[in-house]
Amino acid sequence: MSTINVSVKLNMIDCGVCGGVYAITATYEDRCQEHGLTWTCPYCKTGWGYQESGHQKEVKQLKAQVERAKAQRAAAEDGRLGPRRGPTTKSTVPTATRAR
Ligand SMILES: [Zn+2]
Repeated sequence: MSTINVSVKLNMIDCGVCGGVYAITATYEDRCQEHGLTWTCPYCKTGWGYQESGHQKEVKQLKAQVERAKAQRAAAEDGRLGPRRGPTTKSTVPTATRAR
């Protein structure tokens, strides 16, 4: 029989609602703290977690602004190059139709 040794760092949580004691991984708790995420008590299903700090919210908003600006620029560049690549409207309209 083979043996596998695993090392996991767990943070103990004592639920303030039902008094249940359980543990979540330290890496997950760190991530919750960093990104304002939550976990659920396995006994009473109460959600616990961290709220996003003002600084984290600011960073998120700035990142969203940058993404929006990039998308707008890409759309503007597509608009500028589009008509030049395709056939012009004038050449597709037959002369006879215009004369009538
Ligand atoms: Zn609980």
